[in-house]
Parts: sequence; C-alpha cells; structure tokens
Amino acid sequence: MRCVEVQGVGLAAVAERAVPERRPGWVLIDVLACGLCGTDRHILRGEYPSRMPLVLGHEFGGRVREADPGSRWHAGDLVSVDPNISCGACSHCTAGRVALCPERYALGVDIDGGLSEVVAVPESQLYAASGINPLHLAFVEPLACCLRGMDLSSLRGGESVAVIGGGVMGQLVVQLAALAGASRITLITRQESRRELAETLGATDTCSPDEADRDLSRTYDVVFECAGVLETVAQSLRLARRGGSVILLGIPPEGATLPISPFDLVVDELRVQGSVLNPLTQERAVAIVREGSLDLDALISRRLTLDEVGDVLASQPGAGDIKYVVEPAARPLAP
Ligand SMILES: [Zn+2]
Ligand SMILES: [Zn+2]
Repeated sequence: MRCVEVQGVGLAAVAERAVPERRPGWVLIDVLACGLCGTDRHILRGEYPSRMPLVLGHEFGGRVREADPGSRWHAGDLVSVDPNISCGACSHCTAGRVALCPERYALGVDIDGGLSEVVAVPESQLYAASGINPLHLAFVEPLACCLRGMDLSSLRGGESVAVIGGGVMGQLVVQLAALAGASRITLITRQESRRELAETLGATDTCSPDEADRDLSRTYDVVFECAGVLETVAQSLRLARRGGSVILLGIPPEGATLPISPFDLVVDELRVQGSVLNPLTQERAVAIVREGSLDLDALISRRLTLDEVGDVLASQPGAGDIKYVVEPAARPLAP
C-alpha cells in the first residue's frame, strides 16, 4: 500500500509499505478522505512533538476493510475515525475530559495515520458514517473540535457572535453559530475571499481586523478566536461585551505570552475559555454532517492524490484556500 510518510524534519514522501497486520480489537480501513491541517505542517517542520517515521493524517474516514470476527464492524462499513485515543481510566477520562488525558495519543501524530491507502485503528475510535458523502469524512474531526467550542460557549440563541479567522474552523463556527440561532454573526479576517465565503455561509456581516477594532469594541456576547495568533487573541478580549465570553479555539505558539488587563476581566466579568480537541463530540459531528445543513463542499479548495501531498505541505497554502482533502484509496484496494 502507499502512504505519505514523514521520514525526518522537512522530509515527506510517498512510501510503499506492507498493509499493516491487524491486531485483535483493531480494524483496517481503506481511507477515502483525509484532510490536511496546520498540525501536519507543524509536524513536518519539527515544531510539534511526534514520532518519525510517521504516516501523517488525523482528519479521516473510510470503509472498513477487515475487522475481528464477531465485531460490530464489518467490511464495507463507512466510518469516521476519532484520531485521539485516551486511556479511559484516569480522573480526566472518567470525568469526560478525555482531551486532557495524560496518556492520550493520536493517529497521524504519535502513531501512523490516515494519509495512507490503509490504516489500522482501534475499534473504540470508530463512528458509523453511513449515508455521508465520503469526502465529508475529512471534516468530521475539525467539526467535532468546533462543537466542543460551541458547547463551552453555551449559546442559547439570539446572541451576537464574532468569529476571528476565516480558515476551516472559522467557517465551520460561522455555520454552527447560525444553526444555534445567533442573531448577529460577524466574521473578522484580513482575507477578502474568506469574508465573501463566510457571507454565503451564514455570517450577517464581515470586516477586517482594523475595522473591527475601530467600530466593534465591546460588542459581542461571544467571541470565537479561530486564528491562534497573539494579535487576534488580544483582539478577542477587546470585542467581547461586558459579561461576554471569549472562546479560544486557535492554537497560539507554545510559550508566547500576552499582556492582559485583569481589571477589565473582573469589572467586565469577561470569561476566557480555552477549547482543545474533540472530547466526546465526534458522534454529534457525524450526525450534523449526515443531516446536511452545513455547506462543506464550499470549504474544499482542492482534492489531492497522495502523490501531491508532499509538495503541498512543503509550500504555503494558496491565498484564500480553506481545506485540502486527500483521497488515498478512492478506489479501495482489492483484498
Ligand atoms: Zn487537524
Ligand atoms: Zn485518561
């Protein structure tokens, strides 16, 4: 089988490997769609802890190729994969905070992932995805991360929402906020094409970061920071109204710090809440994708073969591009 292997820092190449041996309790999956994300670029550049050689890819799904006899999974089942594997037994796991599990590891980060014609996955990580457009399997994991942010925001409907950042997370949060009944949804980004896209997906208005600072300070009930840049994290605190919430979904550089005004946090009762990964939200993400009210096709900027991935990861994403989806085994391999 063929896969995209990171062989060292800066070195991603298509490799030919034997189909993995299937261990008991694990399934083999023919991968139909795998999204590329910033984390893949960070791993390739050696900026994110991982193991090498490594098959990249943590946003994927496909068809079951082989499972244990007697398993609830059968060859041909369409499945979404939660790439984050937690221990299930520690105090965080038993409290439902599985993303915080100290034993957590991930497919495509710590063990081989989905940029491969075939991937081995523990059964516990699978969610039935029948009826879903296979290409949309690449969106389930990022959507599940956004759902975590939505849960933490406690939107009830009728609130004003600002979304900072027009990448895939920002565009998904715009759509989820619309589904949640937000009365105003402002997408803030420098990129005009991303602003135009957001207006077709449910944003009531859009603007640049400079315009937001000039006109929109202390305006929003909830601000979602989806860029992971210090400047926009600082801006998110300026945009929340008194009593408002800031949900931090973007991942800022580790170790970077920011001056904040504790006085403002106290007297304005601002709530600042981090949101990481997809703890127990994957199944709901599958359900939302299946139900069909999100426009995911509009977020697919390019469909790629495995052969194109190395060059794409080595270069900067195209201006305005949202999501690249790789189709490793668009035609499943013969058994
Ligand atoms: Zn990702
Ligand atoms: Zn745990």
